[in-house]
Parts: sequence; structure tokens; C-alpha cells
Amino acid sequence: LTFEEAGLCESLKKNVSKSGYVKPTPVQKHGIPIISAGRDLMACAQTGSGKTAAFLLPILQQLMADGVAASQFSELQEPEAIVVAPTRELINQIYLEARKFAYGTCVRPVVVYGGVSTGYQIRDLCRGCNILCGTPGRLLDVINRGKVGLTKLRYFVLDEADRMLDMGFEPDMRRLDRQTLMFSATYPEDIQKLAADFLKTDYLFLA
Ligand code: AMP
Repeated sequence: LTFEEAGLCESLKKNVSKSGYVKPTPVQKHGIPIISAGRDLMACAQTGSGKTAAFLLPILQQLMADGVAASQFSELQEPEAIVVAPTRELINQIYLEARKFAYGTCVRPVVVYGGVSTGYQIRDLCRGCNILCGTPGRLLDVINRGKVGLTKLRYFVLDEADRMLDMGFEPDMRRLDRQTLMFSATYPEDIQKLAADFLKTDYLFLA
């Protein structure tokens, strides 16, 4: 698979080449077709493997193919995708990459994380949200405040799943069941169990 063959629309292709990506990394090459086919995925991939683009590109492509409505101001947002990562730094990187790829499209990513006041984040959220990126606690906070509904949710991405288990996020992760894409640097028994419960069929292992 090349980026040309990945079935991306023109604006996504343009944003990919503007990023300077020429050749897909292994996790992109193997992961993009699985995600595009609507399957669940468990990938063992380290930071630096290109895993962020591996899940963002097929999600963005699908949302655009489905013609997501342009963002509208609302006190209740219903994102199509939720991405969870354990730290503020990580989720911000994912959010920035999502913004870069979504540039010029009507898909609107938003980021929420703890350690700062919720006011500004909620105001940003209310402007429209298709891809909600967040750290576990703050994500639950905005859901529990009734700002985020889950009826349109199609993609649930767990990034650095091994670190999130360590943070005690398991009960919350289990409350959401959608097309689930898991990325974990390591693959110990508790992650294997989570994957077996969460994912319908497909697994991808990358050393
Ligand atoms: P990640 O593993 O998603 O954190 O990505 C690691 C770094 O690799 C990021 O800085 C990306 O911008 C970059 N990257 C991801 N995919 C590619 C690619 N296909 N070609 C060149 N750089 C890439």
C-alpha cells in the first residue's frame, strides 16, 4: 500500500504530502486497509512508528466519504470518533496531527485534557466536534456533564492502552463499544484480555 493507493480524497492526499510523508510506515501500510474495511484492530506499535496517522487517515477518509455535517454550535456535541491517550502531551500531539490532516475539510477535531480549567475546552467543544481527543479523566468529565453524546460514535481509539490500564481507566474504557482500534507498546496478559473482550476479530501485531 502506498498513500496513492490508500483511497484518500484530494484534500487528505494534499495534507499528507504537505506533511512530508512519502512512504507509509509499516503500521500505516498494514493498519490502514484493516481500519478502512471497518474492522477492529489491535496493533503493537511504539511512539515514532507512525501510528497516529495510521488511525487518523482512514477515520478522516471515512467521515468525509459519509459527508459529516459542517460543525454547528451546540451545547451537546456528538462526535463520530473518540481518541483516548494517557497524557496531555500525547493527546495534544494527536490533536495537532488531526488538525493538520483535517485542514481544509469540514471535519473538526477538539482536544480536552486535565490539569487546566474546563471552561475554555468546553467552549471550544461547543463550536463543533467530530473527533474528540482526550485524556481519560477529562473525557469522562465532559461526557458526565452532558456536553458529549455517544449516539454517533463509530470509532474508539485507545492509544498507549498499556499505560492507560496502569492509570486505572479500564472500567471506563469498557463502557464504550464501537469499532475499536487499540495501540499498545507492550502486549502483556491484561492487554491481551482487554483486546479479546473489546475487539471483534482482527488483530495486527507489529514488533
Ligand atoms: P507517531 O508514531 O504517530 O507518534 O509518529 C511519529 C512521527 O513520525 C511523527 O512526527 C510523524 O509526523 C512522523 N510520521 C508518521 N508517518 C510518517 C510517514 N509515513 N513518513 C514520514 N514521517 C511520518
